[in-house]
This record gives sequence, C-alpha cells and structure tokens, in this order.
Amino acid sequence: MLTNLKEQPKDKILGLMAQYREDPRATKVDLGVGVYKNAEGITPVMRAVKAAERKLVAEQETKAYTGLAGDPAYSSAMCDLLLADSADRARIAAAATPGGTGAVRQAFELVKQMSPNARVFVSDPTWPNHVSILGYLGIEVVKYRYFDGETRGVNFDGMMEDLAGATADDVILLHGCCHNPTGANLNLTQWQSVIDLILAKGCLPMIDIAYQGFGDGLEEDAAPTRLVASQVPELLIAASCSKNFGIYRERTGLLIAMGADAANTPVVQGNLNHLNRQNFSFPPDHGARVVTTILTDPELKADWMAELEETRLGMLELRQKLADELQRLSGSDRFGFLAQHRGMFSLLGTTPDLVEKMRVDNAIYMVGDSRMNIAGLNENTIPMLAQAIIDAGV
Ligand code: PMP
Repeated sequence: MLTNLKEQPKDKILGLMAQYREDPRATKVDLGVGVYKNAEGITPVMRAVKAAERKLVAEQETKAYTGLAGDPAYSSAMCDLLLADSADRARIAAAATPGGTGAVRQAFELVKQMSPNARVFVSDPTWPNHVSILGYLGIEVVKYRYFDGETRGVNFDGMMEDLAGATADDVILLHGCCHNPTGANLNLTQWQSVIDLILAKGCLPMIDIAYQGFGDGLEEDAAPTRLVASQVPELLIAASCSKNFGIYRERTGLLIAMGADAANTPVVQGNLNHLNRQNFSFPPDHGARVVTTILTDPELKADWMAELEETRLGMLELRQKLADELQRLSGSDRFGFLAQHRGMFSLLGTTPDLVEKMRVDNAIYMVGDSRMNIAGLNENTIPMLAQAIIDAGV
C-alpha cells in the first residue's frame, strides 16, 4: 500500500537550508528560515524561559494529562496578552494547540464545519502554509491583492477591492502584525476600513498572530487584533508563542474563537475540545506552562518583556542600517521601505532569477520569492548584502 504514495513537493525553505549548509564559502549569509537569530547567529533560549523551566523542574508534581483545551490558566494569560480588555471574555472559547500552525489548522477545520461552502480569503502573498493547509482540507482559497511591487508597501485599494467579493459564508484571513513574508502592514485607519467591510459583508475575520512584540512593541502589535475584537460579533484568532518566547520546538499555540453570544460559548468550547480530541487529544503542555509561568510572575514577565524589547530594537536597527547602506550605495531612497517594514521579514520584491544570482555570486541565501529574514544579518553582513543587491541590479 505504501507504494501508492506519491512524492510530496519538497519544502523550499528546508531545501535552501541544506544548500546553505553545504556551501563552503566563509562569507555566506543565511536569510532563509524564519527563526530569530542574534548577532552571533544563535537562536537563544530566553532568560525568563530558562528561569521558568528551572521553576517547573523544581515544583511540578505531576505530568498527568491536562484538559483537552490545555490548562485554562494558559488560555487566560494569553487572552490577557493578546486582547487585554478589548473583548468580553464570556464570549471567548480557547484551546491550546501544537504551535501557531496547530491553531491555524484547527481554525480551518472549524470553518469547514461551520460553513461548508466557505472560501478563505488570503493575502497575496501569505505564509505558504496557509494555502497548503487549506488545499489539504479542500477549502477554496481566494487571494486578495496585498503587496505593492512598486512601493513595497500594502496595495490597500487593491486589497479592499478584492475583499469586497467576500460573502457572509466566507472567512477573511489577516496577519495580526509583522506580515509574513512581506513585512508590510496596515495602519490602524486601514484596519478600521477592513473592519467596516467585514461588518458590511457579515463574513468571519480570522487573525493569525505569530510575531507579537517583534514589530512596534507588545501593545502596539496587539492593537489591530484588539480593534477587531472590540467591534466584530465573531472572530477566530490563531496565536503562536514560538517567536516571542523563542520556544519554537515546544509547539505552543492557542486558538481563540469569539462568538456573538456568551450563551453559546460552552458549545463553541466543546467543539474546540472535540477537534483537539480528534486530531491529537491533549495539546503539548510544557511550552504553554512556561508561558503561563512567565506571564503570571511579575519579575519573570518584566525580564521577558525586556529581552523581547532588546530583540525587537535589534531588528529595527538592522533594518535601518541596511536601508542607510543601500541609500548610500544607490544614491536613492528606493530602499527606504526596508526601514518601514516591521517584524522579522522583508520582501525585497525582486525576481527568483536575481535571488538565485545573489546566491550564486555572493552566497546570499534568501527565499525564492525574495523574502529576507532580517534577523539573519549583522554588522558585518549588512554591507555585503547591500552591495550584492546593488550589483544584482535589484
Ligand atoms: N503563522 C505565521 C504567519 C507564521 O509565520 C508562523 C511561523 N512561521 C506560524 C503561523 C506558526 O508558527 P509555529 O507553528 O511555529 O508556532
């Protein structure tokens, strides 16, 4: 039977990582995989995470199963972090999931059950896993214009025109902050226009938020999600702790489903629990417990926030330095968008051919669509990347 299986398409980013490892050039620069790296190229365990883990080792008395939705204290702490007081908690059901990907997957499965004819509107481009999970589940994908190839900002008029095609059966998927792969984001006025459209169409918004604290700050990055939550009747949120707690491999995510009527929350919660049960039973607990420990301990929380802020400011500095160097070399402001983008990624907005040319000529590794992981840069590699971009004729 196993011989009936067809080969699956290779993951492009993982392929790129393998190519990078085999490249003997000492000057090679890895801007590929979406993992934060410090100036030494290390993805560190955050101080507060280490401290929380030590505390767990010392104090945890059992590893018996949690609930199907995970520990309610985790959901509660995460809702505080994401939503503050923007939403009525009585209308909220939530379940821990294996990473943000697990939350996205469970959200799409829920959509399929709630609205079998739903189409999911996704930005063009979006995180490729959105499209591939939707395809796997047989859910129709509609792409809406998002990235403006000229300005490298958001093509907001195009986006709104395309979203106007959504009906009350459909879902509009939005990135809460730090858009992956482009780095281009809506401002709050534009978010309000999207909310008005959602209310007019009666469709369901879904927010994927995987980088809270990597853009303009923890509160600022949550502001769009809170604006949406405070105005719409129904909302799905898929949140990831992988990046902002640096606990990628612990698989720590949360699916939040906000309904219009608090009386229906137990049914929604029951469905989230049921979906977890069918797919993996109990969600992973270690990462969730680390997050809860940090968020509920004022000292650990303050230290986590301080380290996250250092990380964020470090990436902003790299952005500014790269934009400045490109300004110096090109004598123009056309790369200023790199300093405007937010989060770990920027889409350079060039062709796969030029991306390949920079790999061959300069050992610069970025994803084929020209997504660069800004955290992969440091003081030494910024001038190298800037020169390569100019030499390639981007
Ligand atoms: N959504 C987006 C937009 C992402 O970029 C990511 C991470 N690459 C995720 C969700 C999920 O991350 P994880 O499953 O590692 O928590």
